[in-house]
Amino acid sequence: MNKTIYFIANWKMNGNCNSIKEIERVVSFYKKKANTNFNKIIFCPPLNLLNYFKKKIKNKLIDFGAQDISKINLDYGPYTGQLSGKMLKDSGANYVIIGHSEKRLFDEDFITIKQKINSAIKSKLKVIFCIGENLLQKKKKLSLKVLKKQISQSLEKKNINKVIIAYEPIWSIGTGILPTNDYLSMIYTKLNIFLKDKYKIKTPIMIYGGSVTSDNVVNLGNISLISGFLIGGASLKSKSFIKIIKNYFI
Ligand code: PEP
Repeated sequence: MNKTIYFIANWKMNGNCNSIKEIERVVSFYKKKANTNFNKIIFCPPLNLLNYFKKKIKNKLIDFGAQDISKINLDYGPYTGQLSGKMLKDSGANYVIIGHSEKRLFDEDFITIKQKINSAIKSKLKVIFCIGENLLQKKKKLSLKVLKKQISQSLEKKNINKVIIAYEPIWSIGTGILPTNDYLSMIYTKLNIFLKDKYKIKTPIMIYGGSVTSDNVVNLGNISLISGFLIGGASLKSKSFIKIIKNYFI
């Protein structure tokens, strides 16, 4: 296997200064055991911890990302509560999560997501662009239509090489329920064709998110179009996160 596999920890609204221990344990595992050539570990902690973690964790192989960005495409300005791409970059982020279903629920529509992607890319942040259908859409067999719309409405052709597409079925996030391999193979194959056709990209980077654990990652590893994982709950503790990485490469 010679493609990069991403293990992205989405800590959501969790963690405090002491949680650095969890990252330190991952770093020490990574130094000793992991095949560093072919995998990339990215922590996306809440923003109040990002800069602190970044300063403390010297290992260059571990990267950091933010969980949100302002849609305002400026470095600075009179925008209360907003954080620009430049600010995130200065705080140590090289990546940013955009379009997560937990954000779409509140304030991210297609246009906002498009603006956020553009802001991120202007600031040289790579984008972890989340897409996913809900259970009703899946039941009505609308999944692909929904996913294609989420992509087309927010992702411009010029940005395709700067995004990692994270397919996260909403009904799988935090539920312990995983799509079947047949379903995943169908989704990734169709998305791959769609991205190649519409965006003229040779090899789109697509990852999976939704209840990933050290147990199910082995099976997910059988789907060759999946180039890594966005991991919520199981990324909070180093033990479960490291086990996911280990088991994937077994
Ligand atoms: C997520 O919210 O991005 C996620 C994948 O969460 P979990 O792993 O907890 O399902």
